[in-house]
Amino acid sequence: MIKTISGTMIGYYFHCRRHLWMFANSINMEQNSEAVAVGKFISESSYSRVEHDIPISTEDEEIVLDFYDAKAKTIHEVKKSDKMEDLHLWQVKFYISVLERKGIEGVKGLIDYPKLKQNLSVELSDADRIKLREIKAEIKSIVELKVPPATVNAPFCKNCSYYDLCYI
Ligand code: SF4
Repeated sequence: MIKTISGTMIGYYFHCRRHLWMFANSINMEQNSEAVAVGKFISESSYSRVEHDIPISTEDEEIVLDFYDAKAKTIHEVKKSDKMEDLHLWQVKFYISVLERKGIEGVKGLIDYPKLKQNLSVELSDADRIKLREIKAEIKSIVELKVPPATVNAPFCKNCSYYDLCYI
């Protein structure tokens, strides 16, 4: 039974559930390949972790925020990706929910896409809170599967660190 759900796991959940399973079950090959597709995908989906890493955890969640503006109650995310993805949105919604669990109400998110020259404002609705509970429950059940979920046969698989394990 996994104890902690991270923002990375939320990302893998949306990207590839097989990858989520491998990652959470400590089958970690990513350190051998910095430029792997999923790593790249998540990295491009992620923020620059240069100066502002702010680790926050609850009893069963852990996140690292790039930058949190406490005055404006806004989580700032910079995504280097050249397209908007559901996983960006849900990672930030997840971060907002974790701050809520820490007693910080009224938090919003702002995702900046420099390549697209666009911003995306993120809020957490009651429906999102329910959906996040379902996502977290599903992540736990995926991770506890005895065998990994099926391959996704997506174009990004070719550059994934798990490609050999999945297809050869
Ligand atoms: S190769 Fe494809 S199916 Fe396998 S873990 Fe990577 S992304 Fe998922």
